[in-house]
Amino acid sequence: MNTKIKSELKAVIVKTGITMLDEGLTVGTWGNFSLRDPETGLIYITPSGMDYREITEDDIVVLDSELNIVDGSRVPSVEKAMHVTVYNERPDVNAVIHTHPLYSSVLGVNEMELPGISEDFVQIVGDKMVCSEYALPGTTQLARNAVKALGKNNGVLLPNHGTMVVGPNMPMALTICQVVEKTAYIYILAKSIGTPHLISQEDIIAMQDYAQNIYGQR
Ligand code: 13P
Ligand code: ZN
Repeated sequence: MNTKIKSELKAVIVKTGITMLDEGLTVGTWGNFSLRDPETGLIYITPSGMDYREITEDDIVVLDSELNIVDGSRVPSVEKAMHVTVYNERPDVNAVIHTHPLYSSVLGVNEMELPGISEDFVQIVGDKMVCSEYALPGTTQLARNAVKALGKNNGVLLPNHGTMVVGPNMPMALTICQVVEKTAYIYILAKSIGTPHLISQEDIIAMQDYAQNIYGQR
């Protein structure tokens, strides 16, 4: 047994799968979630094609930053390259959620972007969420396209597929995933009855500064 492997981090992945199903953010075995241990740099990821209500800590796969398996006997998620590429490009990210949520996927099917239309979204996702170029699931091309379109933001739409969101830890990545899906729903409803008002770039910057430096318990 590798002593650097932490069962408490495997437990976070198991719990995240159940939350994703309970909240309707994914169905079946689709989607995949990972986190990086900031201490060791190791990446804990879901196994491929397994029921999130059935998996245990023993099913979680641990990878290094070059996609080598360092712990676990299951086949890791087919999107492992997407997760690992994010961690290699973004030192600020320690959790990645890829999923297939309803309203966000509608925007991706139309190759539309999700603009900054609400306070929570611009504070934790970015000024907007763009749609990446299309590539087949599970390919290194998808990984490259997704990470390129993600840039410095915390979410990206994957056309004809779903979303990928990132955060400094799993609770925050989950919140970002919920806010993205809620905002996509609001945007589609708003567009169906009128013309959505977009927040100005100046106000987006002011809200991001407020969220980082003032909001909450100091
Ligand atoms: P995995 O079950 O291999 O994670 O694949 C699901 C998926 O969403 C692929 O894009
Ligand atoms: Zn997928």
